[in-house]
Amino acid sequence: MVTAHTATASSDADNQHLAETFQVLLATVRRNRPSDDLSIIQQAYDFCREHHAGQKRASGEPFALHPLEVALVLAEMKLDATAIAAGLLHDAVEDTPVTSREISDTFGEQVAHIVDGVTKIEKIQFANREDRQAENVRKMLLAMVSDVRVVLIKLADRLHNMRTLEHLQPERQQAIARETLDIYAPLAHRLGMGKVRSELEDLAFRYVDPYGYEQIRTAVEANRQQGEQFLRSIDATLKEHLAEHNIQARIDWRIKRLYSIYQKLQHQRITVDQVYDLLAVRVITQTVQDCYAVFGLIHSIWRPIPGRIKDFIAMPRPNLYQSLHTTVMAEGGHQFEVQIRTEDMHRVAEEGIAAHWKYKAGGSPVSAKDEQRLAWVRQIVEWQRDMTDPNEFLSTLKIDLYPEEVYTFTPKGKVVVLPKESTPVDFAYAIHTEVGNTCTGAKVNGRMVPLKTRLRNGDIVEIITQNGHTPSRDWLTFVRSSRARNKIKHWLHEHQRERAIEIGRKLLDREARKFKTPLSQVGEAEYQKAATDYGLADAVDMLAGIGFGKFSARQVLNRLVPGSTSTQPPEPETTPGMSDTVRRVYFGKGSDSLTVEGQNDLLVYRARCCNPIRGEEIIGYVTRGKGVAVHARSCPNVQNLLYESDRRIAVEWASMQDDSKPDQRSTYPVKITVFCDDRAGMLREMTAVISDDGTNIRAVDTKAGTGAEAVVEFVVDAADLGHLIRLMNGLRRVPGVREVQRQQKL
Ligand code: MN
Repeated sequence: MVTAHTATASSDADNQHLAETFQVLLATVRRNRPSDDLSIIQQAYDFCREHHAGQKRASGEPFALHPLEVALVLAEMKLDATAIAAGLLHDAVEDTPVTSREISDTFGEQVAHIVDGVTKIEKIQFANREDRQAENVRKMLLAMVSDVRVVLIKLADRLHNMRTLEHLQPERQQAIARETLDIYAPLAHRLGMGKVRSELEDLAFRYVDPYGYEQIRTAVEANRQQGEQFLRSIDATLKEHLAEHNIQARIDWRIKRLYSIYQKLQHQRITVDQVYDLLAVRVITQTVQDCYAVFGLIHSIWRPIPGRIKDFIAMPRPNLYQSLHTTVMAEGGHQFEVQIRTEDMHRVAEEGIAAHWKYKAGGSPVSAKDEQRLAWVRQIVEWQRDMTDPNEFLSTLKIDLYPEEVYTFTPKGKVVVLPKESTPVDFAYAIHTEVGNTCTGAKVNGRMVPLKTRLRNGDIVEIITQNGHTPSRDWLTFVRSSRARNKIKHWLHEHQRERAIEIGRKLLDREARKFKTPLSQVGEAEYQKAATDYGLADAVDMLAGIGFGKFSARQVLNRLVPGSTSTQPPEPETTPGMSDTVRRVYFGKGSDSLTVEGQNDLLVYRARCCNPIRGEEIIGYVTRGKGVAVHARSCPNVQNLLYESDRRIAVEWASMQDDSKPDQRSTYPVKITVFCDDRAGMLREMTAVISDDGTNIRAVDTKAGTGAEAVVEFVVDAADLGHLIRLMNGLRRVPGVREVQRQQKL
């Protein structure tokens, strides 16, 4: 970023400045990592100067100064030579014609991999700045990188850009400063990089709220002398007492940073004159016992303020933060807070990578997932302790902080967080319910993909919708997010409800006719009263209840017109019953003939997973709100544990009145697959076997099988199991037929 190409040659002064800064870099590396090989850093610096030659920053300085300063920040973090070389090269792929391949050839794959990671982050446009979105962007940044050094370079890059922000246009300043506060400072915080975070926040604060910044800066300056004097006296008193009690401890005191004062003012609605709230005193001890000793000691010197004592040692914060906090009253009625912790606790709080984990003051308690993440963080802290070189682990660390989430984008750059393995349908429902309901297709990274495609981190997803399109039950088999699942189910349920209302109305009409009770005389008030009696809101709910089989039409009729069903006998059983209505609505012609024992008027339907036919052993399963699904006893879904045994119900095939006239009997579509020789006349012979039996063929589909084998699928109308077996045996007798199978699913 911030590049401008000019033709002017670098001045001597520029060259001098670069050379001096590079010497500082080398000296810093030598000091912090004496055993590191400096040659790769030298090589990277030469490469950087060569390829950024002639480019200037907005400040007018040579561009190469930027990667050099970034490398210096990394060296101060005590990072390794690989990271520093990558830092020197971090803008080479983005801002010069250099390719990732060249970096890899010259500096090795590791450096190239890190530079690629930085370039990838650079290319993302973060669109939205609302709070939740910021959290998502931070998570996504961490999820996208496979090497933590990528994030550290990105932070160093941002730090230097913030330090030199004054040279940019005001709008750019605002945007970059805002992003720094929203994304990068919290990221540094999460990685435990307290120093980087503080500097980013204070730099950004100036640009985001110049007035607030100036106000606080002035107030702090005005009170600085008084505050420091007060702190020095506290320090002296405390030192005396520590020596007296032979406690080894160091005292750390300072005036808080401007941005943290600002946050405190915003949060607690106090004014900046309450200078003692701006002071921070910390006592760092050698042992945990000493923490409590110092705690008691302080309370013997100054009076503690009730309610302000917190023991985060016995009860660490979710982010592993440990300390004792107390607020005491000093001479003159001044209150100040003291934090007491061991050196180890201090390191975790200030420097430990990711020690500050997703903790928000007063935030919600940690979830099980967060607990898992914390376990990971603990492990890192452990590693860090065990290593002779505290930065060694950075080089090998692979980040997979959010293994259960995937981060995707809208074409406009909004981040959409979904459960791992989510699909475009999940994405569509995450955008809006209507987008989900009407989605017909999707483009991922500009390419059309099937709706069940699994999305990956960084995918840009565009949903194609069509008015009037409706969700498919199939989607439930591949969506991952509970939102999509619920929305699809809800839609299906609503849709079924409409049908249930329709069925309920028909059943009620029929029952009324059966008992010669005209419904036209029943007024709205009666309907409403009957509905209320059932504990329902209105008559429509009641009709739906009839349709879903929750109560019988006869019962309802009797409530609407009391006595109507008892005074007049119902007509003989030959009258078509409820199942006819059910059949008409749910199944198509000729597929009823199911009765449910003792439940004459429940919705009954053949389960689509096994499509049982007459003659097969069947079992009913009471579904929620859809009546009774009838499965073949052999159906795997029935065997499945998911089917609660107490919802099974006995069912049997209804008797057939006119068994003697086969062509009048109900039939069921059944799919048969035939594996056979791929030879001429094969299909004709098989078709003849079926037709000669007087059986209707609904559909035929042929597919080439493996080698000389063909696969033929027939959908035939079978009356019952005996009929089907006869047909299958007939097919088996056709020369060249190898195998005949019935498919349970149509
Ligand atoms: Mn840069």
